[in-house]
Amino acid sequence: MTQTSIPQVLCISGHDPSGGAGLQADIEAIAAQGAHALGVITALTVQDSRDARRVQPIAPALIGEQLAHLLADCRIDAIKLGLLGDADQVPHILRAIERARVPVVVDPVLRAGGGGALASAATARALLEQLLPVATVATPNAAEARRLAAEAADLDTAAQQLLARGCAHLLITGGDEDTAEVENRWYQPHQPPYIFRWPRLPGGFHGAGCTLAAALAARLAFGEHIAVALDTAQRYVQGCLERALRIGGGRPIPNRV
Ligand code: PLP
Repeated sequence: MTQTSIPQVLCISGHDPSGGAGLQADIEAIAAQGAHALGVITALTVQDSRDARRVQPIAPALIGEQLAHLLADCRIDAIKLGLLGDADQVPHILRAIERARVPVVVDPVLRAGGGGALASAATARALLEQLLPVATVATPNAAEARRLAAEAADLDTAAQQLLARGCAHLLITGGDEDTAEVENRWYQPHQPPYIFRWPRLPGGFHGAGCTLAAALAARLAFGEHIAVALDTAQRYVQGCLERALRIGGGRPIPNRV
């Protein structure tokens, strides 16, 4: 019998029963990188491939208990944070981040691609004020970046406001914009933005953002430099979208495996 160890990514995410987004997306994307996902669920959702209809938060203390046991037992090489159930979960999550001292990818999930709300104003505020400051990388889409930055007029202004909260890197994804190519903008303090450009595939997808953030966390767990990790993770997601799966009547999901 052989035993081996691979990088381990702690995912703190919601559950999407369609399997397109949320923790299932994280587990599949992280496994596809050759890493192991540990999963703590923040919320159950009612959703399908068309839209999210309801978010049922998990009790904050239960999340705290799960995190404490995992951190006491398992090596953690990176943390990926997705949908939050509510703002009361944040102190438990912050405690885990402080304890683990590893790269943290924060995917600020505010609204489903179908339009359904996934975060209250209090949750959005907690993301901005408490979680962006501890993020190695935050990965909002353009709409989420604008909303977090109090509806800033343009993305560069929004990015400066979000960076000022203390995140080390920011990748504002542009899949939800109407540019000819998808433009994903990488910002760091005191540097001009770098724009990754990808062919725009027809139609929208469900779960692309979760897939990107989870793959990125896995690349960082392998110790990749941020510039390489950003490129590798986006390249992986583009491949998943090119061979997307139609699982229902709504948006197709990334084919991650
Ligand atoms: N449901 C959960 C649990 C999520 O984490 C996300 C992430 O963005 C979504 C739904 C929304 O996915 P999408 O906007 O790709 O439809």
